[in-house]
Amino acid sequence: MISIERLYSRQVPKSLNAEPTPRGLVALTLEDILNIIGRVQSKHMIGSFILDARIALDKKAQNRVVLALQSQLQHGGMNEHLALGLATTSVAEVCDTNICPKCKGTTKAYSKRYDKLFECSRCNGVGRIILTHDQLYKAINRFMPADQKLTQVEFQRKHYDNYMDCVNELHIEAGNASKWAKELLRRIETNWSGVE
Ligand SMILES: [Zn+2]
Repeated sequence: MISIERLYSRQVPKSLNAEPTPRGLVALTLEDILNIIGRVQSKHMIGSFILDARIALDKKAQNRVVLALQSQLQHGGMNEHLALGLATTSVAEVCDTNICPKCKGTTKAYSKRYDKLFECSRCNGVGRIILTHDQLYKAINRFMPADQKLTQVEFQRKHYDNYMDCVNELHIEAGNASKWAKELLRRIETNWSGVE
């Protein structure tokens, strides 16, 4: 079965894409791929857009997720600036790769002085840059009008949980879309192997 990364990158080099089945090698066409993505989108729209943003680097899809989340938060009674700030930062955390610029995601950095690889000091050996609470609070405050700026304590007490809820919900949506895409791919393969 092709990976979700391959599916959402919508690239179909035939030789790479042929899948072994009991009937021999069968290749997914671009039409099959677009059809699967369309079906995932109609069942798990937000999750499918997250995969588009994360894998195909589709900024329009990312923006749709932000707007949908912002409107959901506002619907729950949050003011529009805070809703936009929380939506933008949480969607970025889930969709952007945030690869560490120093170690390029390898988690190790070379020290000329010691002629040796060390744990990367920029990302602390994680490979990705994850915003600290302080950076997160500043990022969200950029969306707040001058008279509504949050203090760090306010953010920490009242809104950090909102932020984590958003991140968790986005991961769940993406996971559901990904599961459904795998199920559809599996069905296609079963179909192929069942063809006489
Ligand atoms: Zn690093």
